Amino acid sequence: MHEFSIAEAIVRTSEEVLRANGGGRAEKVQLRIGELRQVVPDALTFAFDILKENTLLADASLEWETVPAQVRCRSCGMEYHPKDVFWECPSCGAIGAEVVAGEELEIVSITLAGGSDGN
Ligand SMILES: [Zn+2]
Repeated sequence: MHEFSIAEAIVRTSEEVLRANGGGRAEKVQLRIGELRQVVPDALTFAFDILKENTLLADASLEWETVPAQVRCRSCGMEYHPKDVFWECPSCGAIGAEVVAGEELEIVSITLAGGSDGN
């Protein structure tokens, strides 16, 4: 269940950011997660809720937007949205492509509890 390792990285990174900014508690963590990460939303929320206990994120909720996958054909350069595990170019039929988008795992913002913006 790789959602646990993702949630662990989110909690760890967020705590580092919070400590570097005075150790305030977080209310919300906003993420961008690429489609190719194949994150199961319920599993990520579940893992986050367990791992956040006794951290600065104990009261925080998780929100994220999914970044659609986009790949570029190595043969003809066409960019397309891969439909299954075999990436076949809809233009020239070549198999395999390089990832343009969809592998993101980024913390966009951390909202502090108590109405402070953290600055
Ligand atoms: Zn192609």
